[in-house]
Amino acid sequence: APVEPSSGRRTRIGVMGGTFDPIHHGHLVAASEVQGWFGLDEVVFVPTGQPWQKADREVSPAEHRYLMTVIATAANPRFKVSRVDIDRDGPTYTIDTLRDLRAERPDADLYFITGADALTDIFSWRDADDVFDLAHFVGCTRPGADMDPDTLARIPQDRVTMVEVPALAISSTDCRERQRAEQPVWYLVPDGVVQYITKHGLYPTPTH
Ligand code: ATP
Ligand code: MG
Repeated sequence: APVEPSSGRRTRIGVMGGTFDPIHHGHLVAASEVQGWFGLDEVVFVPTGQPWQKADREVSPAEHRYLMTVIATAANPRFKVSRVDIDRDGPTYTIDTLRDLRAERPDADLYFITGADALTDIFSWRDADDVFDLAHFVGCTRPGADMDPDTLARIPQDRVTMVEVPALAISSTDCRERQRAEQPVWYLVPDGVVQYITKHGLYPTPTH
């Protein structure tokens, strides 16, 4: 059964890193599910700085991604947004995110929440071994993003838990493509994020 957040034990903080270009309901459902299952006191969403793994495409300015994340999480008292990655110069490495959050909250145990696909990238991370000392990892399976068994086998068993979240076949890539094609993104992202995208003209339709 889900663990009740309570006093008298160490604070548990979920950490959900992402580009959030834009944030969508897949991110929010995953965070909410993991919050409930692990009895997390809060979940901190951490938008990346200039993402080195996505150098192949133009990523929206960090302030837009940060503000969309704030809008999307505003109604949930357990959801917070951190600027640690966007305020740090250079590309974002998870090891730096976890070190900064631990320095801010030395009282807390950290649970790094990630899609199974992102967990597969873990061995391309700098200091991949050290990240497991800083946080427990929670890998969320999502449709079409199966974990490769070789990678799973290399991850320390006591440091990672795989959880199945309700299947939401939503990705930011699909949301951007829809917006560019003038197809609706309503109900894939929170209403306030739809309005923010429109207001700021994010993901414009290419002109020929
Ligand atoms: P993009 O399509 O641009 O890669 P994305 O939808 O994968 O975007 P990210 O910001 O890259 O979103 O993802 C942040 C984290 O959320 C990653 O750990 C990713 O695996 C996870 N995630 C993304 N979409 C889902 C989803 N539908 N269900 C569960 N986890 C998700
Ligand atoms: Mg992704």
